[in-house]
Amino acid sequence: MRIAFIGLGNMGAPMAGNLLKAGHEVAVFDLNADAVAALVQAGATAADSPAQAAASATDAVITMLPAAAHVRSVYTGDQGVLAGVAPGVPLVDSSTIDPQTARALIAQALAQGNPMADAPVSGGTTGAQSGTLTFMVGADPDTLERIRPVLLAMGRNIAHCGGPGNGQVAKLCNNLLLAITMIGTAEAMALGQSLGMDPATLAGVFNTSTGRCWSSDSYNPWPGVMPGAPASRGYTGGFATHLMVKDLGLAADAAREAGVDTTLGAMAHALYQEFGDAGHGGEDFSAILKRYRSEA
Ligand code: NAD
Repeated sequence: MRIAFIGLGNMGAPMAGNLLKAGHEVAVFDLNADAVAALVQAGATAADSPAQAAASATDAVITMLPAAAHVRSVYTGDQGVLAGVAPGVPLVDSSTIDPQTARALIAQALAQGNPMADAPVSGGTTGAQSGTLTFMVGADPDTLERIRPVLLAMGRNIAHCGGPGNGQVAKLCNNLLLAITMIGTAEAMALGQSLGMDPATLAGVFNTSTGRCWSSDSYNPWPGVMPGAPASRGYTGGFATHLMVKDLGLAADAAREAGVDTTLGAMAHALYQEFGDAGHGGEDFSAILKRYRSEA
């Protein structure tokens, strides 16, 4: 298949790499020349703009960008995806953005003859590297069937969440829960260690007990407890704290609009905001553990 991939960051680079490994032809674009060069080294073709990348695609255009403003400009700018893509080629935005922007873009793409899905992901950078991501898809069933083989080259689970925008609804709810469980894991790990427990032993207890969660058993925030987790490499190369702040802001907006009480989500938002403002915005979100460790 011929696929365009735009946004080669912590997530996009390994996702595009997995498309190449699956034997697809991939045209790539990113503002960061080093990120493009690394993918070209792995067999991709560099494009000069989102429009040029999209024009070379016959089977899918995929975007993996930080936030809604980037997504809007990459799709609707003068040199954007919609200006270059041939009619009928399906578009997939895997960035985490608000459902309203996703729905508006999908309507605009459809109006010019391109089916489009929101397909944000879960699984972190480790899932992106191993090709085991979960895709939360908002799309009509026909569009989902067209993009399914492409998604399966990058992920293992595809959850059809409903029509356009519903993938983003699922993702916001998931990350609201993730933010809370990460803070809970950090609090519990820090308390146990300060009371004399070895952190790895404590994590082992959680992971065979009722406190077990993804933040404790796959992405533990304590350095050295999990060799592959960002905590064990100085909190680099994972899911940046500023992106978690963005997602909690989206969840807060959605909760306000729906009139739903998300008290713990609001507390998590405030804690992550404060942590980011203190200079930790670029660190992986599991670095929130530092808030609880005076020596860190
Ligand atoms: P990142 O900041 O590492 O990467 C974003 C990439 O987009 C960068 O390479 C940047 O140069 C590029 N970019 C920005 N503006 C651009 C533009 N106008 N044109 C072309 N390229 C542009 O972010 P990430 O961690 O890869 O996350 C991407 C998205 O996936 C975010 O919405 C995030 O919330 C979501 N997400 C991240 C994770 C994670 O663990 N990192 C997990 C699930 C979902």
